[in-house]
Amino acid sequence: DYGPAPEGSSEALAWIANHKGRFGHWVGGRFTAPGETFATRNPANGQVLAEVTQGSAADVDAAVKAARGAQAKWARMPGFERAKVLYALARLVQKNARLLAVLETLDNGKPIREARDIDIPLVARHFYYHAGLAQLLDAELPGMEALGVCGAVIPWNFPLLMLAWKVAPALAAGNTVVLKPAEYTPLTALLFAELSVQAGLPKGVLNIVTGDGATGAALVDHPDVNKIAFTGSTSVGKKIRAATAGTGKALTLELGGKSPYIVFDDADLDSAIEGLVDAIWFNQGQVCCAGSRLLVQEGVAERFHEKLKRRMGDLRVGDPLDKCIDVGAVVDPVQLETITRLVEASDGEKFRAPCALPEGGCFCPPTLITGLSAASPLMQEEIFGPVLVSMTFRTPAEAVELANNTRYGLAATVWTENVNLALDIAPKIKAGVVWVNATNLFDAAAGFGGVRESGFGREGGWEGLLAYLKPSGQTKPLKPVAA
Ligand code: NAD
Repeated sequence: DYGPAPEGSSEALAWIANHKGRFGHWVGGRFTAPGETFATRNPANGQVLAEVTQGSAADVDAAVKAARGAQAKWARMPGFERAKVLYALARLVQKNARLLAVLETLDNGKPIREARDIDIPLVARHFYYHAGLAQLLDAELPGMEALGVCGAVIPWNFPLLMLAWKVAPALAAGNTVVLKPAEYTPLTALLFAELSVQAGLPKGVLNIVTGDGATGAALVDHPDVNKIAFTGSTSVGKKIRAATAGTGKALTLELGGKSPYIVFDDADLDSAIEGLVDAIWFNQGQVCCAGSRLLVQEGVAERFHEKLKRRMGDLRVGDPLDKCIDVGAVVDPVQLETITRLVEASDGEKFRAPCALPEGGCFCPPTLITGLSAASPLMQEEIFGPVLVSMTFRTPAEAVELANNTRYGLAATVWTENVNLALDIAPKIKAGVVWVNATNLFDAAAGFGGVRESGFGREGGWEGLLAYLKPSGQTKPLKPVAA
């Protein structure tokens, strides 16, 4: 199954080879011996990258015990001491940025340009930001303490960034963590675990158990876990909410979306097109807040669709390690099949970008579907692929009504030159964030999260940190700062 190595991948493949291509879990600051394993593959060519261990309930238990054993000491450390470790982690992510980016691209299929310029820099930014918050904690929130052991279950679309969203605030607040990466993309988490030793993270503070949904469920059900932080599909989020109800576990859920992208007659259409390319074709559309539902005002709809089709003709789909491509591979053949099935079953008018698709990988053409009714499944269901659906509207009121005609509420974009219109519309849209004449703006300091079936809780900023703290019931005396 090992074919010729893709160009640029040698350092990442050497790291895998150093581990003989087989990984155990990361527990108590070291790798366990690999057990029953499954393959993680490069979706761009189908080749096996490595074998990782399917975590059992006993493996989860061992990881939770390691996390519990390390928690009190980690939480008792002054915030500025935890900050030193988080700063070191941020610097190590920057130092190893190329290796992490290539490994992420190999395991996930995302364009290297995105892994290199977006995912990995944002990972470093999250650790820098939370190092800063850790330093402030003792003085700013002396009446708060860590929750204890936090379980994190994350998806495959931004593997290392989702780790950072959960691990950075959890550790800053004095918690210890057991993380379950997605089964398609476990590798960067395991490399990050190794880097954590170099950063001086005490053993047991971060533990990683690989495996599928059953491993995630064992972590959710473990009685000695104080919080579950989950990012993934709405259906699994509902199961986790039910499983944790009545257990006293804290819970945050970041779930799916079907975010509207609203273009008014007076918008700068060229900018709106570029924004839309980013909104729906970034990461092959496998983005929770993807602008996957275009709502365009009738007066410009025809012109906008024509411009969009021309722009789609320029998109390059191809080898994710090629710096010049726009769209890489979707994560797995199962995901590709789901996307293809949804598109084929829809009765709208389909326009597929006329680009050549490489053979042998999970490649899917950027697709636009028009002529659907507001109630049709493709207008309502998250496709989680490079597929945009489009409808027209007449008035701002109708735009708001259509935008809110969804069970989700993660993000929205409004495109107009009329700032009064934008400010009038934005608060009427039920979504965690509304971007105006922009899209996909993220920062560690800005809380991100959804409403309705997109979940609850915020990640990032002070509010994200508060989700990893509880009132201690007593004010801790401030420790003198050592020189
Ligand atoms: P998924 O729900 O299938 O899997 C997510 C994680 O949960 C994986 O690690 C999986 O192994 C685990 N899991 C599966 N079943 C489980 C169970 N019963 N108990 C515990 N854990 C279980 O989602 P996915 O396909 O990996 O990711 C895509 C979804 O994630 C999309 O719906 C997307 O919108 C959403 N997402 C949301 C955000 C956000 O911030 N709101 C960000 C990224 C992705």
